[in-house]
Amino acid sequence: MSVHSIRLAGDPVLRKKCKKIRDFASVKGLVEDLRDTLMAFRKKEGIGRGIAAPQIGISQRAIYIITSEFEGEMLNPLIVSHGPKEVLYWDACFSFKAAFFVKVLRWEEINVEFFDLAGNRKMLKATGGLSELLQHEIDHLDGILFVDRAILDSHGKYPLIMREEWEKLGRPSMA
Ligand SMILES: [Zn+2]
Repeated sequence: MSVHSIRLAGDPVLRKKCKKIRDFASVKGLVEDLRDTLMAFRKKEGIGRGIAAPQIGISQRAIYIITSEFEGEMLNPLIVSHGPKEVLYWDACFSFKAAFFVKVLRWEEINVEFFDLAGNRKMLKATGGLSELLQHEIDHLDGILFVDRAILDSHGKYPLIMREEWEKLGRPSMA
């Protein structure tokens, strides 16, 4: 039940593969800290829909999501299948202070298996923005950062835009 500082790019914990959670009850405090830290970030920055445990320095497979479609913890989340279509999104990350956006290619639709704190196994079909978000957060659990997925434009340049420019464009999710 505390707000942590967000680990920033360069911190080795963000590049570690996180451990699978065996005892779900044991991560209750971690889940609360993820929620509190995400809520504090949203309040301060006005954006932020998800957070992964390594972003507060914990190398365990836990993420916390706040969206209109799903809110809560996802423990040991796993993409079990995906639809055929890939979509380009503008993506940013707290661990880069959400200072800039790059274009990434994500599955338009995924099916995710995960566990809750009580140890219940659940399935979620996610599409669009939620699908993109979950792929971003699950990547964190494998030490993969959004910039690793940045795609080049037809001129061989990274179409990177700063947060202020993204705001001016009306906060687009699709790129
Ligand atoms: Zn991130």
